[in-house]
Amino acid sequence: MASHDVIRIGSYLTVLAIMATWELIAPRRPLTVSKLCRWGGNLTIVLLNTVIARLLFMGGVVAMAMMAQDQGWGLFNLTDWPAWLEIVFAIVALDFIIYWQHQAFHYVPFLWRFHMMHHSDVDLDVSSGVRFHPAEIVMSMAIKATSVLALGVSPTAMVIFEIILNASSLFNHSNVRIPVEIDRRLRWFVVTPDMHRIHHSSDVRETNSNYGFNVPWWDRLFGTYTADPALGQTGMTVGLEHLGPAVCLNLLLMLRLPFVAQLGRYAARSPHSTP
Ligand SMILES: [Zn+2]
Ligand SMILES: [Zn+2]
Repeated sequence: MASHDVIRIGSYLTVLAIMATWELIAPRRPLTVSKLCRWGGNLTIVLLNTVIARLLFMGGVVAMAMMAQDQGWGLFNLTDWPAWLEIVFAIVALDFIIYWQHQAFHYVPFLWRFHMMHHSDVDLDVSSGVRFHPAEIVMSMAIKATSVLALGVSPTAMVIFEIILNASSLFNHSNVRIPVEIDRRLRWFVVTPDMHRIHHSSDVRETNSNYGFNVPWWDRLFGTYTADPALGQTGMTVGLEHLGPAVCLNLLLMLRLPFVAQLGRYAARSPHSTP
């Protein structure tokens, strides 16, 4: 195992442990189904995704960044920018790409079919941050790998981006209670749990908003920002309206969902349009 893998996995498990403890001590919403059942599915699928990503992408996107550096490919390998500027620019640029990718996964019906699995979680907690269909993982890895090669992102920038992205995903999916005044201030710099939870509301207009992963700026800039759910953070329903009553899906049902479930009213062409 490479040293960057040890750093990434170590930071990932640390953030996971901190958020899991925090949401146990100070939960934002009561859970509707058994945590044990949801965690079983969510943690099994992350193990499956890790194996698939490793097999298909030759050691992950950091290996891609090393290849781009060795071959002199991509924008940054043609410029003379200082390393710190390249790192900052690469992180912001990758986050911008992921914001648009996330929108595409909502409004292109074929992509929504797979992303819908992430939204089928009926409670939101730290384990939801890793709940993605393997097909979505493969497609987003392909987009990320292409971006890394085109930009010539350095391996260091890539490791930092991966650590930030994973930590953000665990943080903003967690069921933690943060005082509203602090949340409002944090929201200018990072996507907070209260902000991302709105994206998991079963209300179509709210689902199709707050697409940001790391920084909240793209949603504010491109008109997809929702500050508060209509029914409030504790009154809103998490999940998808067309999947019926809250049930916990096991791994097999999660994998099958894109092939058997209806798409619902969600795959709207325009982010804020209501069918
Ligand atoms: Zn989404
Ligand atoms: Zn999410």
